[in-house]
Amino acid sequence: MAGKGKMRTTLVHGGIRRSQFGEMAEAIFLTQGFDYPTAEAAEARFVAAGEDEFIYARYGNPTVRMFEDRLAAVEGCEDCFATASGMAAVNGALMALLKAGDHVVSARALFGSCLYILEQVLPRFGVEVTFVDGTDPAAWAAAIRPGTRAVFFETMSNPTLEVVDIARVAALAHAAGAVVIVDNVFATPVFSRAAELGADLVVYSTTKHIDGQGRALGGAICGRREMIRGPVETFMKHTGGAMSPFTAWIMLNGMATLDLRVRAMAQSAARIAEALAGHPAVTRLIYPGLPDHPQHALAMAQMGSGGTLLSFEVAGGREGAFAMLNRLGIVSISNNLGDAKSIATHPASTTHQRLPEAQKAALGITPGLVRLSVGLEDCDDLIADIRAALG
Ligand SMILES: *Cc1c(COP(=O)(O)O)cnc(C)c1O
Repeated sequence: MAGKGKMRTTLVHGGIRRSQFGEMAEAIFLTQGFDYPTAEAAEARFVAAGEDEFIYARYGNPTVRMFEDRLAAVEGCEDCFATASGMAAVNGALMALLKAGDHVVSARALFGSCLYILEQVLPRFGVEVTFVDGTDPAAWAAAIRPGTRAVFFETMSNPTLEVVDIARVAALAHAAGAVVIVDNVFATPVFSRAAELGADLVVYSTTKHIDGQGRALGGAICGRREMIRGPVETFMKHTGGAMSPFTAWIMLNGMATLDLRVRAMAQSAARIAEALAGHPAVTRLIYPGLPDHPQHALAMAQMGSGGTLLSFEVAGGREGAFAMLNRLGIVSISNNLGDAKSIATHPASTTHQRLPEAQKAALGITPGLVRLSVGLEDCDDLIADIRAALG
């Protein structure tokens, strides 16, 4: 089932299980428990549950399992554990594997909540975290040492769209015996084949492109079966971060159109980036699909696309950015991404607000920076809306 060529078929059919009614659409099994025919059967299931045997929805559920199997097949991974949110997945992947005394190397440009876990939570439990410039292979090589337990990065970072060379960092990590944990949200399963390039655990916020319509929070951890049904499942099922069956049903439906949506969004993003290049009110433009992006060649080789997001700095700093945001008509001011509706975010005052000014500056999160998640509207309408807002 895995592999790029068959992806659209897998996105529609992967993981489906039908009940005795032969329903076409995936069924929502809104049940937390399961009826055992005998006491002996209950005992046997607690010893070892078979393929289609479930115990309790915090451990697994038929609708959730359909989603897990579909995403695992799309990723080219053996298995997947679905979680209540993207952050439950990031936290679960790290907590399942790490213990006091371990060393982790992480890219420094991260989604705000990921940064909180790596910078604040892990050190409280005796895990040492070294932060590096994710785009610099020499920095990874210098920081990874024998005994490094894990490396963590976003394949395309938020909000400055730095692209990390997955294969190169994975080779360095594996040489030291470290596990590679990758947050693949911005790049999406359509553009980034992280597991094939060496990631051991691929983590998603399915809240973003996989839902694709801004309805439900969800997450997932994909990887080899011994890791997913081993430490990851054990940690997740006892700590309560399970995905609900209703959410899994939303995500299953989202996946059917994922490839079509993400490609259409990326086409529009590329056109918008071209339209904004050289605009007098745009002082900096970041889009990995543009030749002047520092990792343009890597982005094209690794993803074959610049992706569905772009970031740009509006002249006039915070005031200029706010004035532009307040003049937008079609594009919403919000902080989700990967939605059918285009969304503009001001990272410095929202998603990255709590970072000290010096850290914002080091990460390129300037007062004028706006992140744009390109949706499915008519691209000419979007360009006109943004041009008008820039004045
Ligand atoms: C949104 C996001 C998360 C967190 O996902 P939630 O579903 O909001 O918990 C993690 N990483 C990245 C890169 C994200 O964009």
